[in-house]
Amino acid sequence: MKITIVYDNEVKNVGLRAGWGFSAFIESQEVPRLLFDTGADSPTLLHNMKELNIDPTSIETIVISHAHGDHTGGLSEILKMNERAQLFLPSSFGKIFPGRNVTMVEDAMGVCANIFSTGELEGIEQSLALKTNKGIFVVTGCAHPAMRSILSAASKFGKVYGIAGGFHGFRDFRLFESLSLIYPCHCTQHKKQILELFPGKASECGAGLVIQL
Ligand SMILES: [Zn+2]
Ligand SMILES: [Zn+2]
Repeated sequence: MKITIVYDNEVKNVGLRAGWGFSAFIESQEVPRLLFDTGADSPTLLHNMKELNIDPTSIETIVISHAHGDHTGGLSEILKMNERAQLFLPSSFGKIFPGRNVTMVEDAMGVCANIFSTGELEGIEQSLALKTNKGIFVVTGCAHPAMRSILSAASKFGKVYGIAGGFHGFRDFRLFESLSLIYPCHCTQHKKQILELFPGKASECGAGLVIQL
């Protein structure tokens, strides 16, 4: 499985734009092309997608972590361009999309082959659990629910070995000791500390980063 960071507070590639928000594109031979979150604005999202050769009309599944604008800003524009993508929204999302194929997610569930949702945790946010040969890799939006709850929900699908996404104010770093891949992205407040605490395991995030699982 391959994850490409499309939208982030920082950039990895020349030519891409940064913005306060998060979006990641997930692909593999076995799973539908999946967009997780849509950043804060469509011009930045679409610019970065173009630079990264990701065709918005080819996306088959869109998962939104939570209803905050830095994760939903590009959604309406993507939906205008792509009428067939299946949506998985947290049940607290609020907005409805008449005529669209929408699943309102409450409990943990399968999204497609090898990709699961933790379910909406603490009434606000869902994270993804990607099943790989090495175990479970977690992708978070902002990690508003406690990291302990996210990791525990994801571990129902297998042993968690890696994580990428916004970790917000997370600082109970012992929870990451058993992980072997850590990418603190987006709103993570303690990025520097995480990179220093887990040398060789933690790496910088940014738009354009490709994570091969
Ligand atoms: Zn948020
Ligand atoms: Zn956020």
